[in-house]
Amino acid sequence: MAAKIISGVEVAKQIREEIKAEVEQLKAKYNKVPGLVTILVGENPASISYVTGKQKTAKELGFYSVQDDQPADITEDRLLALIDKYNKDDSINGILVQLPLPKHINETKVLYAINPDKDVDAFHPVNVGRLVIGEGIFLPCTPAGIQELLIRGGVETSGAHVVVVGRSNIVGKPIANIMLQKAKGANSTVTVVHTGTKDVGHYTRMADILIVAAGRANYITADMVKEGAAVIDVGVNRIGMTPEGKAKLAGDVDFENVKEKASLITPVPGGVGPMTITMLMKNTLAAFKQSLGIK
Ligand code: NAP
Repeated sequence: MAAKIISGVEVAKQIREEIKAEVEQLKAKYNKVPGLVTILVGENPASISYVTGKQKTAKELGFYSVQDDQPADITEDRLLALIDKYNKDDSINGILVQLPLPKHINETKVLYAINPDKDVDAFHPVNVGRLVIGEGIFLPCTPAGIQELLIRGGVETSGAHVVVVGRSNIVGKPIANIMLQKAKGANSTVTVVHTGTKDVGHYTRMADILIVAAGRANYITADMVKEGAAVIDVGVNRIGMTPEGKAKLAGDVDFENVKEKASLITPVPGGVGPMTITMLMKNTLAAFKQSLGIK
């Protein structure tokens, strides 16, 4: 059986259209739009490219967007003061500090200074706690994107056995907690495996839904996957250069062989990746609606 390949590019486009339409409606009613500030410290080329993408998308969706670029030698106190300024600014609903920060700045201290109601990356412990108890206003972007792909890909999650490979704070742990909730697009039985797990394949072969975020190129081979499983590949691994001089990417799943066995699979690139920025926009819209008292 060849798997249905689910395009994150297409799903992300659909969600962006929905966000744009909602922003227009809210603007007509309240004469306000969601506001997002991106704070970039220094000139890391990858960070510049991520921030540019976020700014471009925010503008396309009709948001008020502020790009606040700061020099690499900004002091921690100055950065904290900047966050405080945006915490108090009513026109800003989402504050995104692009990581990594320079070594002289305490990343945790900076992220924890963001008002949890404006923490659209959902990394603040308050938002982690809200997620665990099922009261998340917004979910961390990559895991939220994974759940959307499952829902829009028509995958039945209720009662399914979800196996997550990886337990990082940004992907593995939050997606495991999301799928565990008694909620739409969740209500699953969840197993999490990691480097301490004896015989990872024993668990992955039991998965109805296999979510892989290990950061190991082509780690999940066809013999580790159950016939008919839905496979979400989060991994992004650089495995060389293309003849055009671009980075050649591979996922954590041996796509060519696993697609013959799975019922649904996400490609790399073009799977989970495009969903992440879109979910950031969805979170900013949710923060905006919350500020207006809309459920
Ligand atoms: P991470 O912080 O390095 O965590 C990797 C996790 O995988 C760890 O929990 C590790 O276990 C586990 N692991 C590693 N090798 C394993 C193995 N052989 N067997 C079982 N478990 C194993 O990585 P991350 O930030 O979660 O990211 C994971 C991948 O997703 C990376 O390739 C990253 O680039 C990608 N990613 C993509 C997006 C996107 O938007 N598409 C977003 C975020 C991340 P231990 O805890 O025991 O070390």
